[in-house]
Amino acid sequence: MKYLIVLSVIAVVYALWRSQRQPPPRQGGQQRPRIAPPQDMVQCAHCGVHVPQGEALWAGGHGYCCRAHQEQGPA
Ligand SMILES: [Zn+2]
Repeated sequence: MKYLIVLSVIAVVYALWRSQRQPPPRQGGQQRPRIAPPQDMVQCAHCGVHVPQGEALWAGGHGYCCRAHQEQGPA
């Protein structure tokens, strides 16, 4: 009878422990933070402003911050 009580206590503690660590429903364990991921910055060849590589406009091997600077070319 004593073992039944011990077992039920362990079961309750285990259930509580499981429910407490419920929040992280991660999938695959490779969830990235919502904050902007690190991105390579490119310097505008015309004005020198740094823009993320994904947003930069490219021409002749140079990165530009906007279409106007892309058309004007390197300073
Ligand atoms: Zn620019």
